[in-house]
Amino acid sequence: MSTSLERLKERLAQVSDLSAAAAVLGWDQQVNMPPGGSDARAHHLATVEALAHSLFIAGETGQLLEEAAAETTGLPYDSDDASLVRATRREYEKLRHVPESLVAERTRVCARAFEAWEQARTESNFAHFQPHLERVVDLTIQYAQALGYEDCPYDALLDRYEPEMKTAQVAEVFEEMKAGLVPLVQVITERGKSVDDTVFHQEYPEQAQWDFGTLVLRDMGFDFKHGRQDRSAHPFTTGFSPRDVRITTRILPDHFQSALFGTIHEGGHALYDQGMRVELDRTPLFDGASYGVHESQSRLWENIVARGRDFWGHYLPRLREFFPRQLAGVDLDTFYRAINKVEPSLIRTEADEVTYNLHIFLRFELEQELLERRLAVADLPQAWNAKMEQYLGVTPPDDAQGVLQDVHWAHGGLGYFPSYALGNLLSVQFYNQAREEIRDLPEQVARGQFGALRGWLRENIHTHGKKFTPAELVQRVTGGEMSAAPFLAYLREKYSEIYGL
Ligand code: ZN
Repeated sequence: MSTSLERLKERLAQVSDLSAAAAVLGWDQQVNMPPGGSDARAHHLATVEALAHSLFIAGETGQLLEEAAAETTGLPYDSDDASLVRATRREYEKLRHVPESLVAERTRVCARAFEAWEQARTESNFAHFQPHLERVVDLTIQYAQALGYEDCPYDALLDRYEPEMKTAQVAEVFEEMKAGLVPLVQVITERGKSVDDTVFHQEYPEQAQWDFGTLVLRDMGFDFKHGRQDRSAHPFTTGFSPRDVRITTRILPDHFQSALFGTIHEGGHALYDQGMRVELDRTPLFDGASYGVHESQSRLWENIVARGRDFWGHYLPRLREFFPRQLAGVDLDTFYRAINKVEPSLIRTEADEVTYNLHIFLRFELEQELLERRLAVADLPQAWNAKMEQYLGVTPPDDAQGVLQDVHWAHGGLGYFPSYALGNLLSVQFYNQAREEIRDLPEQVARGQFGALRGWLRENIHTHGKKFTPAELVQRVTGGEMSAAPFLAYLREKYSEIYGL
C-alpha cells in the first residue's frame, strides 16, 4: 500500500510531464516551426496546458496534499518532501480557483495575440495589436480575480513570478532605485559621449560570433550533453529537465554585443536549470525560486562577470583571434569602456545596466494602470511615450520602437517585468556574497576560470530549485533582505571610474 505522499508524487510527475511537453512545443514553435503552423500549434498548446492544469487542480490532488502534509509533519523545513508539500500546497490553493476554460481561452487568445503582435511590430501598427491586447487585458483581469488578492489585482499576477512578494514592496524598492539611478543617468549623460564604441559599428561575421559564444558557454560550464543551443528571433532559455536545458541566441552581423551578451545571459539561466538536483525533476520544485532569482543568475554572468575588466583581460586576446580585422589596435581599456557605454535609449533589451531599470519602472506603472482600468489600451502608446520622455528623455519615433517592442503582453505576461529589475538587484547581492566566500574570485575570473563561482552558485542557489521563497533564499544566502543599496553602490563605483565622475 503506497503512502499518500507517493501517490501525490506520481500525480505531480504527470503534471510536470505535461508541462514539459508544452515547453517542448513552445521551444519548437520559436526555433523550428514553419510560420503556417501557428494556428495548429495554438490548439496543441491549449490542450496540453489545460490538461496539466485540470490534473493539478483536481480535488484528488488537494486530498493527497492534505494527507501528505500529515505524513510529512516533523520533517525538516528544507527536506525535499516537506518542501514539496509546502510549495505545492501554496500553488494549489491559488490555482484551484482558476477555471480550466479560462486557462484554455487565455492560451488560445495569447497565441493569436502573439501572431498579431509580430505583424503589428513589423508594420509599426499598434491598431492591429490593440483588439488582441484588449482581450488579453480582460482575460488577465479575470485571471487575477480567480487567483485572488487583497490589495490590488497586480498582487495576484506578481505572485506568479515572485512568490509572497507584494506590489507595494516592489514599488518601495523601485522608489529607492529611482532615487539613485535618475541622478546617476543625468550626470553620466552630462559628461557627454566620452566613451567611444565605434569598434562595434562594423560587421562581425555570424559564424565567428557563434563560435566565440560557444567557447565562452563551455568555459562557463554549460553542459552540452544536457543542453543545446539554437538560433531564434528572440533569445530564451527553457528547461524540460535538469538533463535537457535549451538556450537560443540571435545573431546580428552589425550588432556584435547582442549575440555575445545574449548568449552569456541565457547561459546564466541555463546553469541554474542544469544545477538543480535531479531528485527535483518531475516535481513542481524543478523551477527557479522566482523569475527575479532566475534573472539574477543571467545578469550576474552577463553584467558583473562578462562586462567586467577582469573577464576581458583574459578573453580580449581570444576574441581578437576570431575578429583580427575588427579588433586591430583596440586595447583593453577602449574595449571595456565600449561594452559599458551608458546612453538613454529606446529598446529595453539593448539598454545598458544603468538605464535598464528605468525601462522596467515604466512598464510596472503602466501595467498597474491597465489592470485597474485607469488606462485604456487605446491610450497606451501615448502613455508609453510620455513615460519614456519622463524617465529617459527620449521619445520613440514609432510604436515598433515604443509600446510594441516587448513580447510579454502578447503572451499575457503582465506582472513579469519587475522580475528583471529585482534580478539586477539580486545579482549584485549574490555576487558580493560569493566574492566574500571565494577569496581570489577576481583573479579566477581574470584567468577565465569559473568553476568555483559556478560551484558556489550551484550549492547556494541552483541546487534548491523552488524549495524556498525568494525572500527565504536571499536570507539564507546573504543573511539579509533584498535591497537596492548594493546594486546602486556597484553602479556608482563602476561608472565613476569609467566616466571619471
Ligand atoms: Zn533573462
